[in-house]
Amino acid sequence: MSKSKINHYEMLASMKQNERIEDALKMLKLTGMLATYNTLAQFANKENYTFHDYIESLLEKEILLKEDNRIQQWIQQAKLPYIKTLNDFDFLFQPSIKERDIKELESCRFIEEKHNVLFLGPPGVGKTHLAIAIGMEAIKKGYETKFMPLDILISKVQKAHKDEELQMHRLYKQLLNPKLLILDEMDFYDTDQTVSNFLFSLLIQRYEHSSTIFTSNNHYSEWGNLFNSKTRAGAIIDRIAQYSKIIYIKGKSYRLEYNLKKIQKILA
Ligand code: ADP
Ligand code: MG
Repeated sequence: MSKSKINHYEMLASMKQNERIEDALKMLKLTGMLATYNTLAQFANKENYTFHDYIESLLEKEILLKEDNRIQQWIQQAKLPYIKTLNDFDFLFQPSIKERDIKELESCRFIEEKHNVLFLGPPGVGKTHLAIAIGMEAIKKGYETKFMPLDILISKVQKAHKDEELQMHRLYKQLLNPKLLILDEMDFYDTDQTVSNFLFSLLIQRYEHSSTIFTSNNHYSEWGNLFNSKTRAGAIIDRIAQYSKIIYIKGKSYRLEYNLKKIQKILA
């Protein structure tokens, strides 16, 4: 045994037992166990836990914390613009949406089946909210997710194209690899050949391999101008629609209603 190891063990031996336990837990990066082992030991003593019960509870704490950390990290990587959940969604306000359809999407079976989802409808009716909420569920269930508004994607492609080939490749991988991609606001933008090639190739490659949620104020049949060619547009749109759950949202803008109520309150 090397001198430094002997010193290390001698030092450990001189510590109190709690310090030794804490050192070991820190070294093994078991921060959930570190935070709970002492109080849980007292509780276990009081509640007559068996040794196995205690170890099992301690491991549960560690797993919960690690899972929580993973979810937080994946939410950050997904670049969700804000956090929205299905619990925050008022289905009574938007009766054109069948709650059962959304519950089905919440199960993320569509990701296993490599299907797409289209949320179509006017501004303010909750398309982005629902897409984010389903993205959150996907992350919790372990599907890597990425959120990208189409206008941001377009400017990123244009910037990457100007910079260098490598940047373009990196961006492409970022959008190709996630099990779930949320392309928000598929609306009208002037796209040059580089952008439409990128978009076409990305969607063709994702088709049948992974899932995409699209939100749009326009019907998907009107997305053609994004691809700079009628044939390409037809080919990609047919494929998208073939394996898609399409949810049409009709009705009032929640945003508008909310703002109106705020103004009425101020005036009252
Ligand atoms: P869209 O993407 O259709 O334009 P958003 O999803 O951005 O609309 O919704 C606008 C705002 O209204 C968001 O803050 C969203 O959380 C909220 N919102 C929309 N519909 C509902 C709803 N039915 N229940 C609760 N909040 C809603
Ligand atoms: Mg939106």
